[in-house]
Amino acid sequence: MVLSDTSADTSPDRPWTVSNLLDINPGESAKLVFEVPLADGTGDQMRVTADSTAVSGKISFGEMENQTLVAVVDGNGNMITRSTEAAENLGKRVPTWEALLAVGAPSDAFDAIAFNGTPISFGFSSIEGTPGWVVVVGMPKAILDARWQNPLRAFGIGVIVAILVAVLLSFFLSRRITGPIRAMVARSEAIAQNTKAALPPAPETIVDELETLYNAQVNSHQRLTERANELELSSKRYRAVSKVGAMVTWRADNRGKVLEIEGWEDFTGRPADSALGRNWSEQIHEEDLPNLLETLENAARTGDATVTAEARVRGRNQSWVWITLRAAVIFDAQGVPAEWIGTLEDIDDRKRMQLRISHMAYHDHLTGLPNRISLAEHFEQLLHPSNAGQSCALLYIDLDKFKQANDTFGHAAGDALLKEVGTRLVAVLRKNDLAARLGGDEFAVVLGNLENPDYSQLVATRIVKSLSMPFEIDGNRIEIGASVGIAMFITGELSIEHVQFEADQALYRAKTSGRNRWSFSKSEEDERRA
Ligand code: GH3
Ligand code: MG
Repeated sequence: MVLSDTSADTSPDRPWTVSNLLDINPGESAKLVFEVPLADGTGDQMRVTADSTAVSGKISFGEMENQTLVAVVDGNGNMITRSTEAAENLGKRVPTWEALLAVGAPSDAFDAIAFNGTPISFGFSSIEGTPGWVVVVGMPKAILDARWQNPLRAFGIGVIVAILVAVLLSFFLSRRITGPIRAMVARSEAIAQNTKAALPPAPETIVDELETLYNAQVNSHQRLTERANELELSSKRYRAVSKVGAMVTWRADNRGKVLEIEGWEDFTGRPADSALGRNWSEQIHEEDLPNLLETLENAARTGDATVTAEARVRGRNQSWVWITLRAAVIFDAQGVPAEWIGTLEDIDDRKRMQLRISHMAYHDHLTGLPNRISLAEHFEQLLHPSNAGQSCALLYIDLDKFKQANDTFGHAAGDALLKEVGTRLVAVLRKNDLAARLGGDEFAVVLGNLENPDYSQLVATRIVKSLSMPFEIDGNRIEIGASVGIAMFITGELSIEHVQFEADQALYRAKTSGRNRWSFSKSEEDERRA
């Protein structure tokens, strides 16, 4: 549908349009179309089609005297309404339209001859905000002359009266037709900007459809306001729960993008923006991420109601804070995971204490190396059936003449020396081999998954060599040595106790055969000789 020039005007001052008469057919009522842009920024328009007869019926001119004729004409010269014989003339083109256009002004006067040959004086005024609609007021010239005697004066006064009436009517019509549309646009914009703001008043309208739209607007505004109030309350509840529980409450989409978060700033010292709109994974320590993702994916796949996982999230000044993350998957109507909702609880103090205690339980406090308990656990893992058949070695190491160094340079120097021994041991091992301090000047090394069994001798040689090099402790040069006993074993074939016994025997042989060397146990050596 093509509207008039006004419809093409998309300037913000005139964002709505009203059409000229459309679908003009004899015996049928033509249509008027009002288009109002929606205030949602999409550029979409709301379109109201009104019956022109109904609109015309709402425009009344009261009693017109002395054959005065008033008409409202659209921008094509077609009659929208008329003070007399309106029903018969609606939609018809006015005979004086060309004469009116020829005047070339928005309001003026002109003379014309009616169909029946009667000379008529016309005054007209265009209606603001319409596609060229005009109010025309006409009066037979003879009546004007009779009323004012002097034809010249009569014409002058008659014209002024006609123009005045036309201007007043056009003002009235523009208020009654276009005013409501403007008001409706203003109300939509007000709702879009601030749901809870009071609606601007709506002026009276002569179009029933617009009245219906007013009411619909009031209802939807009321519902939106209620919804906004509910949301505000729910957000307050979230915030209160976060504060009371010193925790973070959050909501994320099914890919982990954070959609809502409460309590984040208090919790991490970082603004909500640092988490909002970003993926959860950006906040989690890379060491904790694989486990967390696996837990969440499992829950989404198996439909588990809730998930609990411990991880570190970014805190103040690049620090990491230990948290317990609790999450629940929200499935949509098709059973597909749609969202996650959950909490973060600060467990930093407890977790760090736990880690410290656990580290103390499994490590030697002097050298920081794993201790006997660690060694036992390592063995247990190695002896698990899934690792059966691996070629491995256990090396027992006892420092030579350590007591003497201790006595000569003092216990503190002895401690420092033991620490350095730990460092040198680790330096000659592969990443996955284990070095442990068993106590005193005794250490152990476990070599796992040996592709070449002679590798154990190579490591033993390196250890002996490394520990025979002088130590620089507090400006003193201390020389000791180390004896190493090697026990080779295939996982699953011998008991731990037996392997330890073999290593002990081998160490004893290294000591008794002169120290500062490595040795196999007697049985191992016999086997190798055979
Ligand atoms: P050998 O060559 O036969 O091994 O004799 P050794 O001098 O090394 O003496 P031995 O292994 O029998 O004894 C180890 C000594 O280590 C005994 C103890 O005084 C000392 N020692 C044990 N634990 C510590 C410790 O934590 N710090 C220090 N500084 N010395 C320790
Ligand atoms: Mg010793």
